[in-house]
Amino acid sequence: MSFENSLSFARQLDAADPLREYRKAFHFPRVGDKQVIYFTGNSLGLQPRRTQQFVDDIMKDWRELAVEGHFYAEKPWWDYHERLAEPLSRVVGAKPEEISVMNTLTVNLHLLMVSFFRPTEKRYKILCEEKAFPSDQYMLQSQLRFHGLDPDEALVEVKKREGEHHWHTGDIIDKIEELGDSLALVLIGGVNYYNGQVFDMEAITAAAKKAGAFVGWDLAHAVGNVELHLHDWGVDFASWCSYKYMNSGPGNASGIFIHEQYLDREDIPRFEGWWGTRKESRFLMKPTFEPIATADAWQLSNPPVLALAPYLASLEIFEEVGMKAIIEKRNKIVAYLEFILHEIDRQVESRFEIITPEARGCQLSVFLHGEGRSLFDYLMKEGVIVDWREPNVIRLAPAPLYCSYEDMYAFGQVLKAGIERNY
Ligand SMILES: *Cc1c(COP(=O)(O)O)cnc(C)c1O
Repeated sequence: MSFENSLSFARQLDAADPLREYRKAFHFPRVGDKQVIYFTGNSLGLQPRRTQQFVDDIMKDWRELAVEGHFYAEKPWWDYHERLAEPLSRVVGAKPEEISVMNTLTVNLHLLMVSFFRPTEKRYKILCEEKAFPSDQYMLQSQLRFHGLDPDEALVEVKKREGEHHWHTGDIIDKIEELGDSLALVLIGGVNYYNGQVFDMEAITAAAKKAGAFVGWDLAHAVGNVELHLHDWGVDFASWCSYKYMNSGPGNASGIFIHEQYLDREDIPRFEGWWGTRKESRFLMKPTFEPIATADAWQLSNPPVLALAPYLASLEIFEEVGMKAIIEKRNKIVAYLEFILHEIDRQVESRFEIITPEARGCQLSVFLHGEGRSLFDYLMKEGVIVDWREPNVIRLAPAPLYCSYEDMYAFGQVLKAGIERNY
């Protein structure tokens, strides 16, 4: 499709957008009298309007029922988390029994390492991507040290090629093959937070399995953004947060995926708590743990229902819309943003370099050569919320559920004015 850099064209795209009504289903911050152009759904998604009611319901049940709410609330608290498994299974391509929601992302990665990183003398190395998200690096390093291993030796990072900004799948697979039977685990962020690259999770998972290693994915930037088939790909485990593209609120609960083949297996260890034991006998307060036959066996504590309520509200939207429609709009709106960037780039004499490769989701990461922090300040003042990384990278993530094509056009105009004011 050929695009045009004009307000009328952007409005035509909006008029034809099957998701256009969903923009109204979210609260937008305002700067002055303007609703912002929001590009940071990859960091904290906007609040759905319906979320308030879900939270209020819990507050009301707590107020009126107190402890009885565990069993007699309209959505009883003691198994509230179970309501999330099915809609989430459709978002990540899993079976509902492979999903649980608990804790937060880094905590869950540590817990999953208990099950899936059990180094031996021979097989003890972990492979990840160069410059992984810092929390993942700290998690992996501390796990290695916990097992008495030296991260400098046992943590292998796949590098980008000289002068390039993305990883090659072939380089990752070569490294997996090279490590062979010294490789215990592959753990990579499915979508890189910095350059927006979508890794070939299927091919990398297959290569890791062939080498006899476990493979896990951190899906923080992938869930709700890209197509996932965790079950069919044979992924061993995964975890994600819910506050980025999943719009469930700051610091909110995390999801985990554990492949069916590891459920109910005595040779897969885990750290355990009372919410992982079978519901039927939980309140008999027996001394022995009887694992639930699903990923819920990994749950430790009773569910934080005030946190799960916004997640459930958000999942209702994902159920209504479906990942297919989200991805269709994503492809088009990101292509339109790319077009706008190229148009503005021509007009301001080539200052942009998009470092996101073709394998991408919702995010474009752009070097703004010759620009600095003052441009970022200008954008923010004009109501464009972007993520800025020193020295001059902006990350733009137009979340398909609530961003409009008109936003992309208007952003281009603000960006151009911001650059030209320094001429
Ligand atoms: C956002 C993000 C996190 C955040 O972890 P929390 O434990 O939720 O604070 C971790 N890993 C990656 C790859 C992320 O993008």
